[in-house]
Amino acid sequence: MSFRLANRAGQAVLLDGENYWSLGISSMEALFRLDELHHRWAKRGAPDGQASPAELGPPVPDPKQVFAYGLNYRDHIDEMDEVDYLGRTANEAPVVFTKFPDCLAGPASPVKLVGGQCDYECEMVAVIGAVSRDVVQAQAWDRVAGLMIGQDISDRALQVAATPPQFNLGKSRESFGPTGPALVSPDLVDDPDDLAISCRINGELRQNSRTSYLMRPVAEIVSYLSSVLTLHPGDLIFTGTPGGVGHAQGLYLKPGDVIRSEIEGLGALENTCV
Ligand code: ZN
Repeated sequence: MSFRLANRAGQAVLLDGENYWSLGISSMEALFRLDELHHRWAKRGAPDGQASPAELGPPVPDPKQVFAYGLNYRDHIDEMDEVDYLGRTANEAPVVFTKFPDCLAGPASPVKLVGGQCDYECEMVAVIGAVSRDVVQAQAWDRVAGLMIGQDISDRALQVAATPPQFNLGKSRESFGPTGPALVSPDLVDDPDDLAISCRINGELRQNSRTSYLMRPVAEIVSYLSSVLTLHPGDLIFTGTPGGVGHAQGLYLKPGDVIRSEIEGLGALENTCV
């Protein structure tokens, strides 16, 4: 199935460049009507208008569940351990936490910093397209509606405020989950398991990797999570961030900083810190 689904003022639209086509349903409803999205995408004629990134909200504004994988790129494990020597390793079991859905924001939304240790993490986000339980890896991609870019903005101070560290609140402050610009069906990218991913702060390249370096790729993630619980249409999975985060370099986000996150075939997010 092919489509690029975006959220314009809470309403589902198909988005191709800046052109949009209204679907007449809410963004969440669209996740349950993927066949229809596919047919509308194939037959889109003259667009209904043009949407600037600032007009777009998160493609999936109100998911039932938002999962995030920690420590899923080798170079990120190494850089984090150089800061505090907690002995992070490639764990036998995945490190999974949640971003509470209220933190989700649009592709050009401002990031509201709190304190002096907020950080960026550019990630590929997989969105579930069907009720899924005990899915084998070979069929896992069939359960993925599409992919989008996500920023797992993190308040490092809050993340480690308790012992043992718990991530959920530190990664769920208001505006800490920019996503978008559109939910792109996997067939519309060259190879969903090997896409260039990068993050720039004020134009300076900080993260630069490929999704082929994911230690646990999308199929394994979906299979594993579905072995524990039921996944639902619209559930988000942040798949992990490559090396180059600010925490490892003592370079935290400051008001005025512009975070540009890009993934090959999925577009870009541009979020300004306030
Ligand atoms: Zn992350």
